[in-house]
Amino acid sequence: MRLALALVAALAACAHRPPTPAPRSPATAQRGPRARWVAPPSGAAELVRSLSDEVGPRLSGSPGDARAVAWALRTMRAMGLANVRAEPVRVPRWERGAERGDIIAPFPHPVALAALGGSVGTPPDGVEAEVVEAASLDALDALPEARVRGRIVYLHRVMARHRTGQGYGEAVPVRVRAAVAAARKGAVAVILRSIGTDGTRAPHTGAMRYDDAVPRIPAAALSTADGDILHRILAEHPGAVRFRLSLGCRTLPDADSANVVGEVPGGELAGEVVLLGAHLDSWDLGTGALDDGAGIALVLTAARAVMAAGTPRRTVRVVLFANEENGGAGARAYAEAHRDELARHAVALEADAGDGRVLAVRYAGAAEGREAFHRVALALAPMGVREGAEAAHGGADLGPLGPAGVPRVDLGQDMRTYFDHHHTANDTPAVLDERALDQAVAVWTAAVGAMASMRESFGRAPVEAR
Ligand SMILES: [Zn+2]
Repeated sequence: MRLALALVAALAACAHRPPTPAPRSPATAQRGPRARWVAPPSGAAELVRSLSDEVGPRLSGSPGDARAVAWALRTMRAMGLANVRAEPVRVPRWERGAERGDIIAPFPHPVALAALGGSVGTPPDGVEAEVVEAASLDALDALPEARVRGRIVYLHRVMARHRTGQGYGEAVPVRVRAAVAAARKGAVAVILRSIGTDGTRAPHTGAMRYDDAVPRIPAAALSTADGDILHRILAEHPGAVRFRLSLGCRTLPDADSANVVGEVPGGELAGEVVLLGAHLDSWDLGTGALDDGAGIALVLTAARAVMAAGTPRRTVRVVLFANEENGGAGARAYAEAHRDELARHAVALEADAGDGRVLAVRYAGAAEGREAFHRVALALAPMGVREGAEAAHGGADLGPLGPAGVPRVDLGQDMRTYFDHHHTANDTPAVLDERALDQAVAVWTAAVGAMASMRESFGRAPVEAR
């Protein structure tokens, strides 16, 4: 961490001059300028393991969620963050229960599946019907109703692997809208190939939506491996494939949760906030090590490093949001509770992209903030980070800050392997890339240190919600 701290100190000291380049580690110097920059150990992986082992799965409103709030409070206090508090949020509560899926005919196969979050359950005996396949929501919309009515729809959409979240953005509407699209045509249930880039038997869950105007039908994701089996059988035996699924999931009354907040108090610009967001809840299948344990570790470790470097000009505020995965209630509650203060949120960043190295930095906000942003980007270049021309997305939890004109900076991570484990039982510390996470921490520390310590403002400009 010493290297990143030196960089922060250098940036703070010369706020009006171009920042000094990051010092080279000896390892990098020996291997030449094209070698990958090697970050010092940050301790972030220990935090991921602590959250994963001591709390585990923490879906909104579950007992794990309450344990997560307690973990966040004690972890922030132990780090020495100031004004540590839980800000109450009412959250939806959904429970998985037992689940099972089988290809019944023409070739029997038990399959690995997971109900989508928010799905209704099936009757205790399950739902069995003929399967009809569609490659996309558009293809499903184009099917005659007579082909769908009384059947189970299978959506076979293969997600592409990318450095960014592009493949997920393209494929995820299938998961979110499949149940409504299928029910509109009279389907009795909908199943889909998991939105993920692995080829394993671990199904990927995730949020879905209903529409009050159409019946609520059960919805589940098959593992990618099982989806491919079903797809091949359907291609050879159309009209002859039967499937049965039994889902024990149910929605319970809303429950109490909280956003957990802690700060590194600022100096002369203490009233201005640099917001670092991540989300405390996780899906129930794994232990949320990558999603969003890695993001939590990133923002906490960066805040701790900035604090260790001395008092920043602005206040650095860490917000661990409730209910990102299945509702966004935490993000809305934060924007509402801090409405009067949002005009003084200097910039906001969100870490919700796993443990990959930061490859690009992007900005969205007022034109007057571009120059300040460019200086931050220059300081990150020696760590292998390029300045992206495209606008920052922010992230789901920053969405409600957009209308208040809070500028956003993305530290875009390498997401090529993230969607192999995302929302599956394999999202555990076993798949964590500690060295990559250390690089991300160093970049976050340098970026946050710079933004909290520079005199210049990023300005204001309304940013559209993603
Ligand atoms: Zn997430």
